[in-house]
Amino acid sequence: AGRWARAAAILKELEEKCATPIGKLRHVADAMTVEMHAGLASEGGSKLKMLISYVDNLPTGDEKGLFYALDLGGTNFRCLRVQLGGKEGRVVKQEAEEVSIPPHLMVGSSHELFDFIASALAKFVASEGDDYQLSVGRQRELGFTFSFPVKQTSICSGTLIKWTKGFSIDGTVGEDVVAELTKAMERQGLDMRVAALVNDTIGTLAGGRYNDNDVVIAVILGTGTNAAYVERAQAIPKWHGLLPKSGEMVINMEWGNFRSSHLPMTEYDHTLDVESLNPGEQIFEKLISGMYLGDIVRRVLWRLAEEASFFGDNVPSKLQVPFTLRTPDMSAMHHDSSSDLRVVANKLRDVFGITNTSLKMRKTIVDICDIVAKRGARLAAAGVVGILKKQGRDTVAGKQRTVVAMDGGLFEHYTIFSKCLESTLSEMLGDEVSSHVIITHANDGSGIGAALLAASHSQYL
Ligand code: ADP
Ligand code: MG
Repeated sequence: AGRWARAAAILKELEEKCATPIGKLRHVADAMTVEMHAGLASEGGSKLKMLISYVDNLPTGDEKGLFYALDLGGTNFRCLRVQLGGKEGRVVKQEAEEVSIPPHLMVGSSHELFDFIASALAKFVASEGDDYQLSVGRQRELGFTFSFPVKQTSICSGTLIKWTKGFSIDGTVGEDVVAELTKAMERQGLDMRVAALVNDTIGTLAGGRYNDNDVVIAVILGTGTNAAYVERAQAIPKWHGLLPKSGEMVINMEWGNFRSSHLPMTEYDHTLDVESLNPGEQIFEKLISGMYLGDIVRRVLWRLAEEASFFGDNVPSKLQVPFTLRTPDMSAMHHDSSSDLRVVANKLRDVFGITNTSLKMRKTIVDICDIVAKRGARLAAAGVVGILKKQGRDTVAGKQRTVVAMDGGLFEHYTIFSKCLESTLSEMLGDEVSSHVIITHANDGSGIGAALLAASHSQYL
């Protein structure tokens, strides 16, 4: 009985510390808007980098020809070729190949990583059927989706600011990632030009816009999290270049690095951060994204084992190993609809070697998943409201349709998470406004989007 009382106390504390009542979410949204202003005002003015993407025109539908995309995310990368047929033909056909990144390359050398990518790309190109036609005399052109913070110097160049997620590679920070890729492609004998360097949020925005003219925000919820949106060029004080003809500029917020005293943080979050590859950084990301949610749950289970003998007298050793519980496993437990929660039982056995769990224990574990996932989803919704506020789209005035393109494995597969995000957005906006704000799943928008941006920045236009 003492065990359960201690467990209940730990759980209650977790619930209180993770609480996201609407008032708190409004503070988070407001803080996001404030930081957006600060990040646009001056370089280094905010935790939000508010990076200028050099994308001042989004796809129109007129894009034509054969283009490639390379999407380097967090866990895997994708090669894509797409035959674009203009307004009539649209996406005539496309083919993609996904390669998982060997973990040792995420912490190895820059050279090795780019060689690996370029060689996979070269193989992908070599496997092309003759139903894909490159116009004679033309060089292949690529949109490079690179999902890490980059300070762009043009649409097709930019230097890495820092690695995030599980990456930590010496010698890439400060380097032009397009130059690195180009050199690696040359070493592979692959004749291809990087026509556009884009963040995955920018790619998703572009891919989303191609399908729906009212897309003005893109959010990624995958291994990490980030957002991009369309800003008025005149509202970017730190931009000293010529004002683009369109009057608009797409901004890569790098919202994963957002932090605010209003964010609900627990001891688990603090230790996760301290023990991470990038302590003190990407705090918003560490509360929300797929790389971390499972590990937060693992930390709670570990404490339950240590302080409430939750799994018996011994503490299962695997509970102490970082990242043993991956978010897809957490999600599977959370979605377990069987009456005896057998998915939970099986995951505990397979992941931690824990057997003989009672139904009451399994229910507790589902509760923990619920608390951690919903906090993340609600904070992500608050972030979106912050952007809508910045755009002046959080009120009924104008009644314009606003579409938010979302993508990423977490959004796509963790249904409870995405449903909670959507309902929280409605809760925050109210019925009338939320009837004009639509969330769409831009399936692989970032790949297609990068290819579309390569097309609109082709050297042959
Ligand atoms: P990346 O962010 O690396 O570009 P994805 O968008 O495909 O790649 O997202 C992959 C991430 O999505 C995984 O690291 C994982 O955290 C999360 N994810 C994948 N499948 C699921 C799932 N079934 N449930 C919850 N999260 C998932
Ligand atoms: Mg991705």
